[in-house]
Amino acid sequence: MIKIERNITPIQLTPTFVASQTAEFIANRTNVWNIDWLKESLLDLSNGKCAYCECDLKEESKYMEVEHFEDKDSNPNKVMEWDNLLPSCKRCNGSKSTHDVITDPIINPFINYPSTHLKFRLYRFKDKDTKGKSTIDVVDLNNTERAVKKRFEVGEALEKTIEKAMERLEGFEANKIIQRRNKLKNIVEDILLECQCDSIYTATCSTILHSNDTYSEIKTRMATHGLWDDHLDGLHNESVKYIL
Ligand SMILES: [Zn+2]
Repeated sequence: MIKIERNITPIQLTPTFVASQTAEFIANRTNVWNIDWLKESLLDLSNGKCAYCECDLKEESKYMEVEHFEDKDSNPNKVMEWDNLLPSCKRCNGSKSTHDVITDPIINPFINYPSTHLKFRLYRFKDKDTKGKSTIDVVDLNNTERAVKKRFEVGEALEKTIEKAMERLEGFEANKIIQRRNKLKNIVEDILLECQCDSIYTATCSTILHSNDTYSEIKTRMATHGLWDDHLDGLHNESVKYIL
C-alpha cells in the first residue's frame, strides 16, 4: 500500500448529479456508483491499482470495484461523495465489507501515509500501531494465497534482476565498452521503474530494493564510474517514498 493523491475530480460529478444519485440510492438501494467514467477516474488516481493491495485492476478489470471507505449502508449520504470512493479489487472490498472505519479506523491511502502504520517483513505486513493492525485484519492484507504469495513472487523476481544487474556491472568493470555500460544502465533503470507509483506492488518492490545490499553496492560502484546519473538518482529518490 502506498499514499495516493486525490488530485482530480471527474467533471461529470456535479453537486446536482451527486444529489440525484444519492437520493436514488437511499430510495431504491441501486448501485448508483457503477458508472464507467467514475471507475475510470478512480483508476486514474491509483494508476490502475487496488488502493489497498496494489494488484493490477486494469489487467483484471472485472475485479475493479468502487469501494466506499465509510460504508454506504451506514452512511448513505456519502454513497457518491468523491472523497469517500476508492478503487479496490473485489477481494479487498469483500474483506473490508461493512467495517465501520469511524469506530475502528483503518488506513485511508488517500489521507494516511501507510508507512506510518505498517512495516514489511518476510513479505508480510506488520503493524506499527492499532490503525495498522486493524487495516491488516480488516482488509486481510496478509492473506497467504492472494497477498503474501504474490508479494513473494514479485520480490523474488526483483531480487533475481538485481543479481543480474550485478553480473552486468562486473562485466562492465572487466571491459568498459559502451554496449556493456548501456546494458547495465538499462537493467538498473528497469529495476527502479518497478519501484515507482505507476508499477504494481510498489511498496513491496521499493521495500525489497532498499533493503538489498547488492543494490546498494551496485549504486556505489556505478557512482564511482560516473554512471549514476540524475535520471537514476531521481528514480531512486522517488522510490524511497514508498518504503514500508
Ligand atoms: Zn486489493
